[in-house]
Amino acid sequence: MLLLAVVAAVIGLVREARSSSPPPTAGAAAPSPSAAAPPSAAATTTPPPPATTPPAEPTFDRAQQSIDDPDSTWVVVDKARPLAPLDHAPADLVDIGGRQLRAEAAQAMRDMIAAAAAQGLTLSVQSAYRSYDYQVDTFRNQVARFGEARAEIQVARPGYSEHQTGLAADVGGGGCDIESCFATTAEGQWVAAHGAEFGWVVRYPDGAQDITGYKYEPWHVRYVGVPLATELQRTGTRTLEEFFGLPAAPGYPG
Ligand SMILES: [Zn+2]
Repeated sequence: MLLLAVVAAVIGLVREARSSSPPPTAGAAAPSPSAAAPPSAAATTTPPPPATTPPAEPTFDRAQQSIDDPDSTWVVVDKARPLAPLDHAPADLVDIGGRQLRAEAAQAMRDMIAAAAAQGLTLSVQSAYRSYDYQVDTFRNQVARFGEARAEIQVARPGYSEHQTGLAADVGGGGCDIESCFATTAEGQWVAAHGAEFGWVVRYPDGAQDITGYKYEPWHVRYVGVPLATELQRTGTRTLEEFFGLPAAPGYPG
């Protein structure tokens, strides 16, 4: 009897305690401005899955072509990466305005020149393929005239010139051929902005001499194909060395 009374009293106390504190549901449902106002509270309670899920990145396989094979359109040639063999000559050179490029690069150059012309711009190929023997003669002449130190700055060593791949060209236009002023011409600016659409990149950008080994050459373009050229542009990568994770090549080793 006494036990029942105690139990009843305890139950009564518990009920009283519950009813005295406001039910949590009532508090939440009440149109209290202080509870509804803070947007941070709403933000933290709402899960933001679309914001944290990154958009699907198009995957680009950086190993799909060789960067060592001198016949690859992705071959990377710099002062630390000569052509192998040194006297390599491409087998598919074709004429372009009295000069030569590999067939694929020549077609891409014709397409780029035509697209520029449609914009009222006149691009011309000033230099393109240069053979190992040509480079030997040029380098020798420069050494004879200016000494070896100066020659190394002005002319690539035989076997180390991108022109020997048949995938590089020096273009001119806007009254400026193979000079830094090309960067300020409408032609030079168009090439920098639209070259990638045709597979060409400005290979020696401004301020990258520590990586490429060459001062800014706005006129020197390199054919790498549209997929790689547009990927470089999309990712804002300025040099092939950086894109492929290669060591910087500011000068010749040794
Ligand atoms: Zn050049």
